[in-house]
Amino acid sequence: MVTTHNLGFPRIGKKRELKFALESYWNGDLSQNELLDTGTSLRLQHWQYQEQLDFLPVGDFSFYDHVLDTSFLLGNIPRRAAETADNKLDNYFRVARGRARNEADCHCIQAGEMTKWFDTNYHYIVPEFDSNTRFSLDASRLLEDIAKAQQQGHQVKPVVIGPVTYLWLGKTKDHTPKLDLLDKLLPVYAELFAKLEKAGIEWLQVDEPILVTEFSDAWEHALRKAYHTLQSTSLKLLLTTYFGELQENLQLVCSLPVDGIHIDAVNAKNEVARVIDWLPSHKVLSLGVINGRNIWKTDLTETINWLSPIYERLQSRLWLAPSCSLLHVPVDVRSERQLDNEIKSWFSFAIQKLDELALIASALRHGKDGVAEQLAKNKTAIEHRKNSARVHHRAVKDRVLAVTDETGNRQSPYAVRTKVQRQRFDLPLYPTTTIGSFPQTPEIRQVRKDFRAGKLSAEQYRTAMQNEIKHCVKEQEALGLDVLVHGEPERNDMVEYFGEQLAGYTFTQFGWVQSYGSRCVKPPIIYGDVFRPEPMTVEWITYAQSLTEKPMKGMLTGPVTMLNWSFVRDDQPRSETCLQLALAIRDEVLALERAGIAMIQIDEAALREGLPLRKSQWQSYLDWAIRSFRITANGVKDETQIHTHMCYSEFNDIMASIARMDADVITIETSRSDMELLDVFDEFHYPNEIGPGVYDIHSPNIPTVDAMVDLMTKAARRIPAKRLWVNPDCGLKTRQWDEVKAALKNMVTASKILRKKS
Ligand code: GLN
Ligand code: ZN
Repeated sequence: MVTTHNLGFPRIGKKRELKFALESYWNGDLSQNELLDTGTSLRLQHWQYQEQLDFLPVGDFSFYDHVLDTSFLLGNIPRRAAETADNKLDNYFRVARGRARNEADCHCIQAGEMTKWFDTNYHYIVPEFDSNTRFSLDASRLLEDIAKAQQQGHQVKPVVIGPVTYLWLGKTKDHTPKLDLLDKLLPVYAELFAKLEKAGIEWLQVDEPILVTEFSDAWEHALRKAYHTLQSTSLKLLLTTYFGELQENLQLVCSLPVDGIHIDAVNAKNEVARVIDWLPSHKVLSLGVINGRNIWKTDLTETINWLSPIYERLQSRLWLAPSCSLLHVPVDVRSERQLDNEIKSWFSFAIQKLDELALIASALRHGKDGVAEQLAKNKTAIEHRKNSARVHHRAVKDRVLAVTDETGNRQSPYAVRTKVQRQRFDLPLYPTTTIGSFPQTPEIRQVRKDFRAGKLSAEQYRTAMQNEIKHCVKEQEALGLDVLVHGEPERNDMVEYFGEQLAGYTFTQFGWVQSYGSRCVKPPIIYGDVFRPEPMTVEWITYAQSLTEKPMKGMLTGPVTMLNWSFVRDDQPRSETCLQLALAIRDEVLALERAGIAMIQIDEAALREGLPLRKSQWQSYLDWAIRSFRITANGVKDETQIHTHMCYSEFNDIMASIARMDADVITIETSRSDMELLDVFDEFHYPNEIGPGVYDIHSPNIPTVDAMVDLMTKAARRIPAKRLWVNPDCGLKTRQWDEVKAALKNMVTASKILRKKS
């Protein structure tokens, strides 16, 4: 008999119940017991949704982050938190976010560092190590959850992060090599395994996603050692990998002494046959056949047909699951009441994905006849999507086919353009500008909300936005900035704003996915060929330009960022969808140029985060990503100045690609690193203009004139002054007006001092 299971369920709740409970607790409006109760009832609910599975994942729920949970499970709590110990949960929140409750006497500590979980948009709290790190097991929470789930009659399969991935995810604070800690860590895992066995657990899911990445021999050795050491237990281990192919690690994965392995059969479908050949015949093979990273319905008939011979061969050794934890998809498509019905019929969120799994298992176990009706329904949805006129637009596809290298080339190289542009703009040395947005006050948000709700007419809305733009322009002129922006009051989000105006995009009401802690994002969905039916920003930008003699930068979001922050269609390569986006935004660039806008900024905030897990695949991603940007940006005349912006400056490894974008000006984040991040420019001579951020907009602090002069002086050691701009790190929308004015005033003064000095 085939066995079904799940790797993890979203914990935030259908309507983000956990988010709201957490935030109330942090604000002091909810007691700790009430928060714990919310957690318990969410878990009970989530277990019910998963009732039809043979094995229920437990230990996947978290009040903030499952990696931080693991640190607490293993007793690896930063000393600064252990010292303030009073209450375990509060201590946990202190490591997560610096404080447990927002109160004056909060025992605040430095929050743990946060970083991205593999190539997802989920962020985890980085485990901290040093030579004194000791581990000690605290499995109380996990064991309680297990007991509770068992009481409900579920067959429980706990989920833990494996020891090697745990070390791999962390950071040493001194120079201790992380792998030196393995010997201290393994006994704690052994102790945990013994406890689980005692709790009546048969199977344990041990996540080692490190196995889809490239690692050195030392890590391979650690993996072998870990699983050889831990195998003495009679608990059965399901070694779990996800997010990609095993490639050179395939034989290693098959040979580790565990009782079964799980592989991502969506991303690594082509490896399944080889895995079956390599896997010893006593081991279970779990195939992740439902995409846990996207929202499309699975083609059930195709999947069943593909699985049938595999099932025939493996029989009860075959397990089925989603490809990875369902953490990365929204909970329930049935909550969506405003989606177009046809489009909605193509989607499958977490709960629906588990239904699909059950259906596949049923067809394998008892034949397709028993589920013929559901299969027919699924087939209809799949066919409709394949052939829908909403998805396919001949003109878009033809346009993509007609793209040549020429499409992405500027008329002349930078050296020629810069002369034309300097003449046109006549900017001073160290020109000042901002990244686009100005503070989004509650009043602006209210206006947008009222307009959406139909409480304001289009005319009233336009007037309100124009007033805000007028205000932004006036403030910028008063501050003496050299290149102005309109302030983006009409935008709620840099991707959503454009997605809503592009054909091929749709939006959900409740399609939330956890980003970190209580923070969720609601990625738009690209379901069809993308094009731009009408101008998207021209009216606002030309209005803003009409108010000033200074250059007004047009503000757009780039194709790669649009792609990386959306759920993307799975019926064509990402690169092709990106190209469609590129052409659509190119239309807007050219429209702005025709309307007399002389500077256009195309933000690529998310370019870096699209990098594949394996370095060997970076170049091909960068090739199509940069090509897409070039197609968007480079159709303009020499005298039009293209800017781009990126919210990070770890460029060392992709500098050459960034330079290939050939933007006239790039603005990046650097202030927090004291310009250290500019070291890369010692070796790589960035050819065009650059604005290293001097104002850390993530902090309420007002940077001083001296600090900014100092930062720019450091920058000028690496980049000639005549190619430097002065600007903040990122947009100002999350800040208050009084902070922004004070900071920008200092920034303008700093720039004047710099001019005098040079
Ligand atoms: N132009 C956008 C803004 O200023 C850029 C935001 C971003 O890079 N994340 O808000
Ligand atoms: Zn930014």
